Amino acid sequence: MTRALIVGSGIAGPAAALALAKAGIEAEIVERHPRPADEAGVFFTLGSNGLDALAVLDLQEAVLAHGFATPAIELRSGTGRPLGLSRIGTTGPDGTTSQTMRRTDLYAVFRDRAVTEGIPITYGRELVSAVDTDNGVTATFGDGSTAEGDILVGCDGVHSRTRMLIDPTSPPPVSAGLINYGGYTSGVDVETEPGTFRMIFGERAFFGYAMAPDRTVWWFVNEPTTVTSAASLPVRSEAELATHLSGLFRNDSGPAAELITAGSDLARPTLTYLLPHLPRWQRGRMIVIGDAAHAPSPSSGQGASLAIEDALVLAQCVRDLGPTRTAFDRFEAIRRPRVERIVKAAARINSNKSATGFTRLIRDAVLPIILRLSGTRETDMTYGHHIDWNQQIRA
Ligand SMILES: Cc1cc2nc3c(=O)[nH]c(=O)nc-3n(C[C@H](O)[C@H](O)[C@H](O)COP(=O)(O)OP(=O)(O)OC[C@H]3O[C@@H](n4cnc5c(N)ncnc54)[C@H](O)[C@@H]3O)c2cc1C
Repeated sequence: MTRALIVGSGIAGPAAALALAKAGIEAEIVERHPRPADEAGVFFTLGSNGLDALAVLDLQEAVLAHGFATPAIELRSGTGRPLGLSRIGTTGPDGTTSQTMRRTDLYAVFRDRAVTEGIPITYGRELVSAVDTDNGVTATFGDGSTAEGDILVGCDGVHSRTRMLIDPTSPPPVSAGLINYGGYTSGVDVETEPGTFRMIFGERAFFGYAMAPDRTVWWFVNEPTTVTSAASLPVRSEAELATHLSGLFRNDSGPAAELITAGSDLARPTLTYLLPHLPRWQRGRMIVIGDAAHAPSPSSGQGASLAIEDALVLAQCVRDLGPTRTAFDRFEAIRRPRVERIVKAAARINSNKSATGFTRLIRDAVLPIILRLSGTRETDMTYGHHIDWNQQIRA
C-alpha cells in the first residue's frame, strides 16, 4: 500500500490525509507545534468552493455546524460612502454558501475525523531535512526522530521547510505590508444584516465586521506597515492594543472604534505574507501544497479553500497515477493556473487596502466601477469551482 507522510497539521495537511485515505493511501501527519492550535480570536471565511470540496470528505455538515453564512461584503469609504457590494460565495441548491468560523473549530473538525479514520497525528515534530531514497523518502525531525513514506507532502504553510528542501533557491514569501488583528464584541448594536460583512477603507487602516447569529460582532483590522518581519512587530498589552487600534479609526465614520474599545479575545497581531509564484512545487518524492506552494493574501478569502482543493486533487492524481512524478506533474498542471489567477486578484485587493492620500481618493472613485464590471464571472470561477472526485485523472 502507498504511504504518504504529511508535514503540517493546519488545513492542507489533515485535508490531504483524509483525501488520500479515501483514495486508499495510508497517511500519517507530523506537526511541529507541541499540541493542537488554540489561538484566541482568529476567525476566517471558508469559501463556498472550500465547502463544496469538504463535501467529498463528508465533512461539510460538521463544518457548517460551526459557521454562519457570509456570502457578501458591503464596501464603504472611511467617510461612510457606499462603494459597492461584492459577492464572496456562490449558493448551492441546498442554500449552502461561504461560512465564517473560528479557525480552531475547523481544525477540531479535521482532527476529530482524522482520529476516527485512524490517521496518526504526532505533535512536536518539526521537519528539518528529507532525502529521497531508492524506494521512498526519509524525513528527519528536530527531535532527531525520522519517518518514511513513498511520498512526502509539504503542508507546512507559507514559511515551508519542505519548499526549501525541494529547492533551496525558492523565492521567500514577501510581506504584503499589512498587519492583521481581530476580536469579538458583544453588546454593541451595528447597522448590518447577519450574513453580510461590512468593510471600510478607513483613513489609516482597513476594518471589517460581521454580526454572528448570536449578535456578537466579529471584526478584524488590516493596518498598513513598512515592517517586513513578524519578529519586528510592536509588542503591546491587550489594553495598549485596543487604544492603538481604536485610534486608527478615530476620523472614520462607522462603528470601528466603538467595537474595538468594547472588544475582547483579541487575536495576536500577525503580518500578512504572500507567495505569489513558486517556480518549483515538487522534486523527486516531495511536493508542496496549500500555502507552502501558493499563499494568496488573506484578502482573497481563498487560502483555506485552495488548500482543501489541492488536497483533493493531489489525492486523485496519486490514486490514479501512483506515487509518481507523472502524478505530481498532473497535479501541478491542474492546479497552477487556478491558484495563480486567484493570487493575482488578491494582490490587487491588498494594494487597495494600503492606499493612502491621493491614491485613496482614486481608489474610492474607481473601486465601485471595478466591482460592477468584474463581479460575477470572477466570483463564479473562484467560488463556484467543483471537483468531481470520481473523475479519473489521466497522464
Ligand atoms: C490573518 C489571516 C486571515 C486569513 N483569512 C482567511 C480567510 O478568510 N479565508 C481563507 O480561506 N483563508 C484565510 N487566510 C489564509 C489561510 O489561513 C491559509 O491559506 C491556510 O491556513 C493555509 O493552510 P495550510 O495548511 O497550507 O497552512 P497553515 O494553516 O499555515 O498550516 C501549516 C502547518 O504546518 C506546520 N508546520 C510548519 N512548519 C513545519 C515543519 N517544519 N514541520 C512540521 N510542521 C510544520 C504549522 O505549525 C502549521 O500547523 C488567512 C490568513 C491570515 C494570516
